[in-house]
Order: sequence, then C-alpha cells, then structure tokens
Amino acid sequence: MPILVMKFGGTSVATLDRIRRAAKRVGREVANGYDVIVIVSAMAGETNKLVGFVEETSPLYDAREYDAVVSAGENVTAGLMALTLQEMDVPARSWQGWQVPLKTTSAHAAARIEEIPPANILKKFDEGMKVAVVAGFQGISPEGRITTLGRGGSDTTAVAFAAAFEAERCDIYTDVDGVYTTDPRITSKARKLDRIAFEEMLELASLGAKVLQTRSVELAMRYNVKLRVLSSFEEMSDDAGTLVCAEEDIVESNVVAGVAFSRDEAKMTLQGIEDRPGIAAAIFGPLAEAGVNVDMIVQNISDGGTTDMTFSCPVNEVKRAEKAMAEAKAAGLIDFAGLVADTDVCKVSIVGIGMRSHAGVAAKMFQTLRDEGINIKVITTSEIKVSVLVDRKYLELAVQALHDAFGLDKAA
Ligand code: ASP
Ligand code: MG
Repeated sequence: MPILVMKFGGTSVATLDRIRRAAKRVGREVANGYDVIVIVSAMAGETNKLVGFVEETSPLYDAREYDAVVSAGENVTAGLMALTLQEMDVPARSWQGWQVPLKTTSAHAAARIEEIPPANILKKFDEGMKVAVVAGFQGISPEGRITTLGRGGSDTTAVAFAAAFEAERCDIYTDVDGVYTTDPRITSKARKLDRIAFEEMLELASLGAKVLQTRSVELAMRYNVKLRVLSSFEEMSDDAGTLVCAEEDIVESNVVAGVAFSRDEAKMTLQGIEDRPGIAAAIFGPLAEAGVNVDMIVQNISDGGTTDMTFSCPVNEVKRAEKAMAEAKAAGLIDFAGLVADTDVCKVSIVGIGMRSHAGVAAKMFQTLRDEGINIKVITTSEIKVSVLVDRKYLELAVQALHDAFGLDKAA
C-alpha cells in the first residue's frame, strides 16, 4: 500500500468535534487505498499552558523535565485520535515518540531527529492496521529521556516520517488554506499560491511566515518530500492548499513569489571599531555564545583605521547583545567608541527563485520604496531574496506597495 502522512496542527484537533472531523479525512484517505501515518499536535493552547506550568514551578527548570511535561499534550491527542478512528471502524492505534522509536539528540527542548526505524509500524500495517497515529514534537534521547523538537516541531515530525517511510506525500492540515504571497492581514490582495519551491518556502518560513516550522522545510527539501499545506476547515479537493515541491515541478511562477516580513527587529551599530583581521570574529563570537540570533551584517568601508559594524537581531535580544559587547570590551577582546541600538525597525523581504534569471528586481524594490518615501536603513541580498530594514511604522505600507509593484495578486 502507498503511505500517506497527514499532520493535524493544534487548531485542527482543538476539540473532540474537530478531532472527529480530522478523523473523517483520514478515513477518506484510507478508503482511497492508503496506509496512513497521522501526526498530531497538542490541542490548541495546551503546549503554552504546559510551558507556563513549568516556568511557574521552576524558573531555572531542568530541561529534561520541561520536555517530560510539554510533550504531554501530544500524547492526549494521539490517543483520542486513535479512539475516534476506532469508533469509525478504522483499525488504528497510537504511538508516543519513544515507542516508535523516534530517536533524537540529547538537546532538550530543541532536539534534532537522528533516526526513525520504520519496522514496528510497518509490521502493524502488514497485520492489517490502517492508521498509525503518532504524537508529534517528541522523541527519545540516547540516554532514554523524552525530548522535544522545539516549538512547532510536529511539522518536522511529519516530514521526517514521510522521508523515513517514503510516503507519497505529507499533508499538513492547519488553520489557513495554504501559503500566501504575503500575510492576508496586511493586504487583502494576498493570494494563495498553488505551488511554491522548497527554497522559496524556506526563505519565507525563516523570514517570518509562520505556517511551517523552518526545519520541516529544510528536511523536506533534503529528502524531496512533497509537502501540501491545507486547511482542515474546508472541503477536501485534489487541488486544495499549496504544494511545496522541487523547482522542477513548478511550471510557471512570478519572478517574486512572496513578500515576507518580521516586525520586531533591532539594528545595532558598533561605532569606531578597529579595522584589523579577527575583529568580526571577536564581535560575533561572543554574540553567538550569548545566544543572540544575528541576521543581517554590514561592515562599513574604513578610512584605514576604524570602521562601523552594523547587525540586526530580534528586538528582545538587544539587552543580551549589549551585555555581550560590554563584556567583550571589558575583557579587552574588542574596542568600540559607541553602541547604538535602533529598536524601531522591521525587516521586509521579497523572495523568488525567478530572481536568479531576472535582472532589476532589487532596483524595482528600491524604486517602489522610494515612491512611498520609505527610507532604507540596511540592505542584504541572496540569490533568491532581497531584504531591507525600514522603520517599523512603514511595515504595512512597504508590504502593500511591494505586493502591488510585483503584481503578486495575479498568477503568472
Ligand atoms: N505542540 C507543539 C507546539 O505548540 C508542537 C506543534 O504543535 O508543532 O509548539
Ligand atoms: Mg504549527
């Protein structure tokens, strides 16, 4: 039998009624001839509640016990989903991560999947079971402790199962009906994409589009797992949702596929640093050790002696960055005249594999922002994306203007 992986996010299993609705969809795929692996999230809000319990009980908690607690939400939905399927006469049973076993590293709260031996589940399929319901987000470490994969990790569980079982497809059921050209809350002209390339999705996910965990897209790209993002609230049809797939499987697309943004960015500038070999390492080493997620980096041209170094990071990491830099200065690792933090910026990016073969995309972006009177503070580019930092008050305007300028409301 061909295998299909179906993943249901928290809103899709938020109530018993919704679990029933999800189970019906699973039943239909069984009727279509698939053996199905269902990956479930915790009921909406459950994981947050459990995280809250842990933090209240023990502010400097033991990460192993954090995982023991926060993985529990998925255990409940896995069992309930299996029961619901059984009530519908679909042969099903639940698995917790350790029972599969889904083997991970020991990095608690952010573990990485190492291996999913398919034998146990395949044996059950051979014996006539139709659906394996697996608790998402969790696994087992080499030490035999329960681990979790980081928030949003059930997406990654689903893709990893699809790869391990060579599934025909991995369907991710969620509360939106697909991947959009940008957030529909920012512009009503946002359009659902029928297909998007892995690389584009990866950029959009890491740039702030929250529909899929970034790691799940990385994994899908590495193993060429076809991913479909679709709503569990709408009727099923074969062309529903958005297919995330290899570039070769996309016939026509716009030069720019989407406009992404992240609202809470900060721009930090170290002024008057020495221009010598090793200075970047001396700055970004301590920042990395302090857990600051540096994104854009720009080093100015120097007059021979000193220069400025600008970087961006999430706004809630500014304090940590300032502390790391002050400590590095006190320890004599670096010297600087000043550290200026601008905490009122956001990042707006255009993404598209078509940029590789089209000139003038960046120029058009800059002209569009100029026409709106928006000043650009930092620019970075890659092969398939251009990102700018602008004042946060311009976020909506910038996204809307770029969406219009690149004609994203119309299909290619
Ligand atoms: N329940 C976990 C979370 O809320 C994992 C997931 O749903 O993907 O982060
Ligand atoms: Mg999610």
